Amino acid sequence: MIKKHIHTFDLMQYPYRINWEITQQCNFSCAYCSNYETVNKATPPKVYTPAEIASFFEHTEKQWLILITGGEPFLYPDFVEVCTELSKHHFLQINTNLSSSETFRFADSIPPDKVFNISASFHHYYRKEENDKKEFIKKCHYLLARDFQLIANLVAYPTLFDTIENDIATLKSEGIDSMLFGYRGLYQGKQYPYAYSPYELELIKKYAIDDTEIKIATNSLNYYGYYCEAGRHYFSMKENGDIGRCFTLSKKIGNLFDDSFKTIEKLRPCISHQCTDCYNGPASVTGKKAATFNIWLEKKRYNK
Ligand code: SF4
Ligand code: SF4
Repeated sequence: MIKKHIHTFDLMQYPYRINWEITQQCNFSCAYCSNYETVNKATPPKVYTPAEIASFFEHTEKQWLILITGGEPFLYPDFVEVCTELSKHHFLQINTNLSSSETFRFADSIPPDKVFNISASFHHYYRKEENDKKEFIKKCHYLLARDFQLIANLVAYPTLFDTIENDIATLKSEGIDSMLFGYRGLYQGKQYPYAYSPYELELIKKYAIDDTEIKIATNSLNYYGYYCEAGRHYFSMKENGDIGRCFTLSKKIGNLFDDSFKTIEKLRPCISHQCTDCYNGPASVTGKKAATFNIWLEKKRYNK
């Protein structure tokens, strides 16, 4: 495994975490996109101003680590200003394909100590030409030179095994660490990550940030019955503000934008046999198993 810049459990230093799909719009169209069904397909919901977004978070009276993902977050109107407002009282993590020229303004405007991590997605099909690769590297250098924590991420799509190690080595030679995600989805009728060969799994293990990817590939990210902070200290949020316990148990429990969201007081058990909230799931689950009655109660509550 690679030298760790971030670790699943580093997330735990932030008591309140929310994973926000700020937009479903994207300027790329990757075959392996985890939001393939929704990205670029829906009409964007109402856009809020940076000040409005900051005030929605202030109403919660919590300090958040806001993990902003998409789509491509930089496509959200006034995204740098949104980050400027949010970073006054909260911490950020940004998942981005680094295609926007706004990256430079972001780097010059946001205090690096308010950013937990920038997860820079290196998409081979959009970066295989020399100029495109250089543009990605230039933006990484710009952010790194300003002390942002940054790690490049690549997806182990079945057609990319000939290029993955080269791409990782190129980035490494430029002082940029990378991590490899397993692909989740269908390719030629096979369901990934379960269809990876032992060789492919070894490669994933070599460049994964911890053992989460291997656990997903071997179907062992299963916390069924364990108490989890999801719903109390960790949440998922869709672009329209709907909030769920997590992206796996995503049933709406409130909406940030209409002030109907409240954190729950008591820990509740996980009722899913597979946690797709990789990194955030393992950081939220506790080692304590719930009684059968409490699992039944949570299922009843969830299915209401
Ligand atoms: S850049 Fe990210 S959000 Fe956009 S299509 Fe590719 S994987 Fe999906
Ligand atoms: S373990 Fe994962 S799926 Fe289960 S409640 Fe926690 S975050 Fe959600």
